[in-house]
Amino acid sequence: MSSVLKAVRGTRDLLPPETALWNHVETVARSVFARYGFGEIRTPVIEPTELFSRGVGEETDIVSKEMYTWEDRARAASEKAQSLTLRPENTAGVVRAYIEHKLGETGRLQKLCYIGPQFRRERPQKGRYRQFFQIGAEVIGPPSSGSESPLRDAEVLEMLATLLDELGIARASAENNYKGWKLALNSVGSSTDRPRYVAALREALAPVKDKLCPDNQRRAETNPLRVLDSKDENDQAIIDSLPKIVDYLDAESKQHFADVLAALDACGVPYTVNPRLVRGLDYYTRTAFEFTMETGLGTQNALLGGGRYDGLSETIGGPKAPGIGFAIGEDRLILTLQALAEEKQSAEADNHLHAHKLDAYIAPLGTEQNAAALALASTLRRAGLSVEVGDGTFKMKKAIPLADTLARHLIILGEDEAKAGEATVKTLATGEQVRLSSSELPKRLSSAKP
Ligand code: AMP
Repeated sequence: MSSVLKAVRGTRDLLPPETALWNHVETVARSVFARYGFGEIRTPVIEPTELFSRGVGEETDIVSKEMYTWEDRARAASEKAQSLTLRPENTAGVVRAYIEHKLGETGRLQKLCYIGPQFRRERPQKGRYRQFFQIGAEVIGPPSSGSESPLRDAEVLEMLATLLDELGIARASAENNYKGWKLALNSVGSSTDRPRYVAALREALAPVKDKLCPDNQRRAETNPLRVLDSKDENDQAIIDSLPKIVDYLDAESKQHFADVLAALDACGVPYTVNPRLVRGLDYYTRTAFEFTMETGLGTQNALLGGGRYDGLSETIGGPKAPGIGFAIGEDRLILTLQALAEEKQSAEADNHLHAHKLDAYIAPLGTEQNAAALALASTLRRAGLSVEVGDGTFKMKKAIPLADTLARHLIILGEDEAKAGEATVKTLATGEQVRLSSSELPKRLSSAKP
């Protein structure tokens, strides 16, 4: 016997009824994004490898260890094989599209959102997959469009608070034992602040480097910023004593960050400033942020992350186009909603977790009624009702329990009924039964919708 094939490690199938919850989340996200003036962008899942090595950064974990990259076959002898990569994130792709379609030439601020799969070869665990989904958005434009304004940072963060509110995910408070969402943010400085800070970090790390774990020793050399968000227990005391980036921000960056915080205060969005938050992608400048959530996520508690990337467009060969964006881990959002539903904290999620019953199940009595049953199903479906049709070979003993699990009404179509242009409708919850003309059926079933 041949072996059973399974989904690739770190990827998974999403099945109904869980997919109803995914659709619900996406519908709410689209509705919120539309109210903030975002339009959807769809970019390919395959991009040139160079987009990520230049955009995200050669020394990042994503680019150095986690990408699915291959040499595409050259089609002709004259053609060079191109290195391609399954996108590990979507900001670089959106900025590539912004440059390629000259969106900056409109002079207007671009607000673009997306939902789609991303691919990283990470060690799979709960909340961490090799194919995962991100719901994200980017605000980008030439400086004259106001894309650098701290108002944009605050608007994006306030939009995220609104989205989480509308999904029924509460902010951390005494009421939920501080288990709701928490926003942490930091300024990682401008492209001129950062090199000064990194130099100071290197200097501070040099004398203590030998005491760090091997991973941090390597990071101290290749990408000292990464040492800051290390979770290694033994290294925490040293990391806490390292210089803080706030002390290296120039006056403009300091003011920018202060303005973001003031706008968040004005909108009532709660936050904490975490001076160690740097995030794993090189393109971030100034504001960087993360929303964490305890419920449902275990150790992978980062629900979403984002930040400003004022130099990314130029890094990949485009015009000056400051921007800010975020990506929500949709898989993690779903895990959170499922956990909240289990704890009965979100009736919304609970509602979408359970399969919805169909309006009716049609049971033809005998295969002679099959065609009439399918025609009736067609009429009802076109009238907006959800219907399943049984097969005339099914005995009532089989049809009734099946109808009961699938639908709220059982429609029996026997020879008598068919001749009279009628059908018997049984309301399964109450057992009540009536005989109706086929033309009355759509109205009757529609009025019985929950
Ligand atoms: P990043 O693109 O690394 O800034 O990540 C943004 C968000 O995507 C994170 O906060 C996670 O919620 C989610 N995410 C990143 N990597 C994974 C993964 N391997 N599996 C599931 N979600 C992920």
